[in-house]
Amino acid sequence: MQQGRRKFIKVGLAGGAALVTGCATDTSDATPGSGSTSLRSDGPIILSTWEHGLSANAKAWEVMQGGGSVLDAVEQGVAVVESDFTNRSVGLGGRPDRDGKVTLDACIQDHNGRAGAVAFMQHFEHPISIARAVMERTPHVMLAGIGAERWATENGFTPKEMEIPEVRTEWLDWLKKSEYKPIANIENHDTIGMIAMDRNGQLAGSCTTSGMAYKIHGRVGDSPIIGAGLFVDGESGAACSTGVGELVIRTAGSHTVVELMRAGMDPTEACKEAVRRILRQVPENKGMQVGFLALRKDGAYGGWSVYNGFNYALKTTTLDKLIEPGSDRTWE
Ligand code: ASP
Repeated sequence: MQQGRRKFIKVGLAGGAALVTGCATDTSDATPGSGSTSLRSDGPIILSTWEHGLSANAKAWEVMQGGGSVLDAVEQGVAVVESDFTNRSVGLGGRPDRDGKVTLDACIQDHNGRAGAVAFMQHFEHPISIARAVMERTPHVMLAGIGAERWATENGFTPKEMEIPEVRTEWLDWLKKSEYKPIANIENHDTIGMIAMDRNGQLAGSCTTSGMAYKIHGRVGDSPIIGAGLFVDGESGAACSTGVGELVIRTAGSHTVVELMRAGMDPTEACKEAVRRILRQVPENKGMQVGFLALRKDGAYGGWSVYNGFNYALKTTTLDKLIEPGSDRTWE
């Protein structure tokens, strides 16, 4: 891969490539729906879901610039958002389930498909780091619930208790009607999924969330499930998702995106097809947002969502910005 000189190639939706050689300008911008074609970047690149991805990308970039691996970068990048206790959808600052418990899901995967995950776990600031430790220190991929908490404690992670009065008050208000609405929109800005490639073309990805607010105690979404919330395959590319996890699990969403890229599909088209599989399964879908991001191993990237309003943070050598990809539907 050519280093030191940025090239962006606007890839046509049918997969054909119109070359804009030597051009350091990205033709996408944050105008709603403007990111509806794929672009390509040589060299390191990081994509993260939602606006909180900007700070995560900044950290991940710093890690890679400092000589850390792309796996270090995706772990430490999303850990920034886990430590932001004003974030209501990631980490211990997240909204609780209907029993008032904040339960966390996370996973991580490297270029060679090695993976680690934790699900339905309470009391730890950095589930992403525990997921990585599961990958590196156990023969397993996923630990869940009390077992995950016990293993984490025994393996050097320190539990943290946190009660945020505002979160508790909101939960108590919610309990009055106890209406569960699986809506994941721009206001409650969601899970962080990150996919990245280093200067040598090595891929990695991470995903971490407190899940859908007021879910049933014990519910696990797509975010810790390899193939659903995240999938990385060094031969093909990486993808991650955000939104209503049940829809993503039912379609093995991120795996679908990566396999479509393996079959030659453009990243944006692959995300679009994954969204359309969801819509074919649930055509009556009302307000259930899902967004996908995709990064092909040649540096082409894109995204797509069910509804408008989904955005992602992009970091390359020359770009640091939010992009709103295209969507099938608009909020009424
Ligand atoms: N995908 C997450 C879940 O279903 C929700 C989110 O993206 O915030 O738990």
